Amino acid sequence: MIQFEQVTKEYTPGKPVVSDVTMEIQDGEFFVLIGPSGSGKTTTLKMINRLIPLTKGWIKIDGTPISEFHLQELRWNIGYVLQQIALFPNMTVEENILVVPEMKKWPQDQMKKRVTQLLDRIGLDPHTYRNRNISSLSGGEQQRVGVARALAADPDIILMDEPFSALDPVSRNQLRQDVSRLQKELKKTIVFVTHDMQEAIQLGDRIGLMNNGKIEQIGTPKAILEKPKNEFVRNFLQTGLPNYKEQTRIHELAAQGYIQEETFHSDSVSPVLSSEDPLDALIVALAAHPLAYVTHPDNRPAGVVTQESLLAFLAANLDADEAVTTE
Ligand code: ADP
Repeated sequence: MIQFEQVTKEYTPGKPVVSDVTMEIQDGEFFVLIGPSGSGKTTTLKMINRLIPLTKGWIKIDGTPISEFHLQELRWNIGYVLQQIALFPNMTVEENILVVPEMKKWPQDQMKKRVTQLLDRIGLDPHTYRNRNISSLSGGEQQRVGVARALAADPDIILMDEPFSALDPVSRNQLRQDVSRLQKELKKTIVFVTHDMQEAIQLGDRIGLMNNGKIEQIGTPKAILEKPKNEFVRNFLQTGLPNYKEQTRIHELAAQGYIQEETFHSDSVSPVLSSEDPLDALIVALAAHPLAYVTHPDNRPAGVVTQESLLAFLAANLDADEAVTTE
């Protein structure tokens, strides 16, 4: 577990950019820090592996303050993936992946096996890729190697700072799915910084929304979408997710198979919604009821939308490229 206790960071004395942050990130959790540019996300992330020293408070990993760890051990035991793919361009894929295992002096055969295993996991054929030069790979392939390198020495915690934002939309979406799957398989704790709400919804077990160095709200994507805690959170969702407010209509849910066709007779069902209604009516209904009943404009029943299927729909349909983010 990673615990923040009243953590403050001031680059200039008296001017905190991270202010009194208290939160806990659980083992095996995919935790997303999101917020506008300059809200303190990267600073918060980098304090975890002491790339940035904190000014006040404590960060503890499994109960031990990070200041008590040997710095090199701490860094080796926390994987780190950056936006600008920080690989060595004149080295091979294998050499890049093995930077930390080399420093830890792993036996040669174990390192070879590890590279094969990791390349398999991240979807790069080991035979084709292990001896390729980094500079000959596409951006998406390089970032896969970046993820493999972060995983190489099997750290429990991985920090990711906007790791996919420099990629084209197709590679970005593919890598998101792969990292999400890997995290579930490997049960790593991931702390992930983004300014993209779609990414946060898609990846996060929980999301911490930052503003001016403070955490405005922490919760599951569902809890934040359904119950934004204050005006800032509501505005952030609205500007980050325009399609969800303005363009998407319920018939798209039906067309994509998110409406279950079934008759029902449940007390927990919301008022009937017509499919002419915009999606926000459905979101409001599903905040109060586990299910909503949707009809076609001519009143033929369309079926049931659950909170889960709505969330899955939102994650699949919010187009980050069209979204006006707060960056
Ligand atoms: P985010 O990741 O949310 O964009 P950052 O953590 O990078 O935010 O930055 C938070 C604030 O701290 C910003 O106002 C930024 O200008 C400032 N800041 C970041 N790094 C430094 C630094 N090394 N020295 C002084 N100010 C900094």
